[in-house]
Amino acid sequence: MKIITIARPRVLDIHGQRVLDIRHRYTNDRIISNPRAAIVAIAIHHDGVAMANASSPTDELARLDAIYNHAAQQDWLRFPYPFVVFPNGRTYYTLNLNHQPSQLAGRNHKTRGVAIAGNYMTRRPSNQAICGAATAILTTYAWSRAIVPIGKHADLALPAYPTSCCGNSWPSWAKDLHAAVLARYTAP
Ligand SMILES: [Zn+2]
Repeated sequence: MKIITIARPRVLDIHGQRVLDIRHRYTNDRIISNPRAAIVAIAIHHDGVAMANASSPTDELARLDAIYNHAAQQDWLRFPYPFVVFPNGRTYYTLNLNHQPSQLAGRNHKTRGVAIAGNYMTRRPSNQAICGAATAILTTYAWSRAIVPIGKHADLALPAYPTSCCGNSWPSWAKDLHAAVLARYTAP
């Protein structure tokens, strides 16, 4: 898979799927690099906070800034997830894939992740959000040069760190996320 970077605006175009690259917005020095060969899974998250289906880029950046500030207050690494997807499908690249996320206690050095803004305890994410998450997963695969399993945060968490993330609706849309990844894949 070829990733084309366009200088301005910073948009990654992956076979027509757009990812908005805002890594330059979050630049504190709390970073650790991990080798791509170490990655064994991609964790799917929600942020657990209700999110309207119609959001503007201004709303979204405010939400992302809040996630960044919360992480900084916890003394976590720069940004918790490499990607955050909104219900309208807009997908942001927030943390360099080389950099360790803060998303899966004890396993961050060997996983990457995608967060979907919203709360999916009872209702599933929009189809647009599922498609955006698929694009983020394919971007991760292009970086890691390997197909690794996709899992619910709760299923990948160590027993000492139980969670319900990414919500109890996961069984109703996991297969759709996998199908969306396959549908977007194009051989190089
Ligand atoms: Zn999570």
